[in-house]
Amino acid sequence: GTPLVVEDLVKTYRDGTRAVDGVSFSAEAGQVIGLLGPNGAGKTTTMRMMVGLIRPDSGGIWVAGEAVHAGADVLGSVGALIEGPGFLPHLTGLQNLQAYWQATGRPAAEARLEQALEIAGLGSAVHRRVRGYSQGMRQRLGIAQAMLGLPELLLLDEPTNGLDPPQIKAMRTVLTDYAATGRTVVVSSHLLAEVEQTCSHVVVMHNGRVVLSGAIDELTVTP
Ligand code: ADP
Ligand code: ADP
Repeated sequence: GTPLVVEDLVKTYRDGTRAVDGVSFSAEAGQVIGLLGPNGAGKTTTMRMMVGLIRPDSGGIWVAGEAVHAGADVLGSVGALIEGPGFLPHLTGLQNLQAYWQATGRPAAEARLEQALEIAGLGSAVHRRVRGYSQGMRQRLGIAQAMLGLPELLLLDEPTNGLDPPQIKAMRTVLTDYAATGRTVVVSSHLLAEVEQTCSHVVVMHNGRVVLSGAIDELTVTP
């Protein structure tokens, strides 16, 4: 099936805020989709529904043809970094990834773990306790964790938060390389430049709706 189909999603929070108001889009293998929009546009809410963290009022999400519902075990097919993962502060970065993966009952192949850690670019800091990590280091460890299972769909909510320009550049390569293996990446951002430089496709959100979507080169206006 298609790697990702999002169809007419609607989500109203308990306090009456309609955060997502009829969002539809789909993604093919090899695409890096940028979910672009200002704060409050509904990007995080959309991503939470895509991993089954919260339930939509209506609409549906399918990953590789399988419906995602709240509480679904999507760990094998979807890897996500949403709102910063909770790490165990007294364990090292490496131990945190090992613990996370063991807890899922899918022990990571050593090679995969090393690959993920290389992507994180933490160097020898992987042997230091997470307690002492900067926000950027935690962010990168979280991205490594999301990629650990080589998920068909990788979802990253504002992954460049806390990263400096060289790290953002490195992340660009990581994401495009990942998609080039025939998988799909969806990454949210409030920065047009970031999406333009990293993504093959864009879905622009505003007030819970998709206002524009398509391939980046088709949307770029040339003077
Ligand atoms: P974005 O990720 O694009 O910044 P969000 O999905 O976080 O957008 O938020 C969309 C809207 O929903 C905003 O108006 C936000 O304040 C509101 N919102 C987000 N989370 C909650 C919540 N738990 N309860 C009520 N409103 C929320
Ligand atoms: P984001 O970075 O996605 O915009 P926020 O900083 O708006 O996230 O929200 C952080 C947390 O606060 C989230 O758990 C979100 O669900 C919650 N939240 C955001 N807006 C509201 C709101 N209007 N009412 C209640 N909770 C909210």
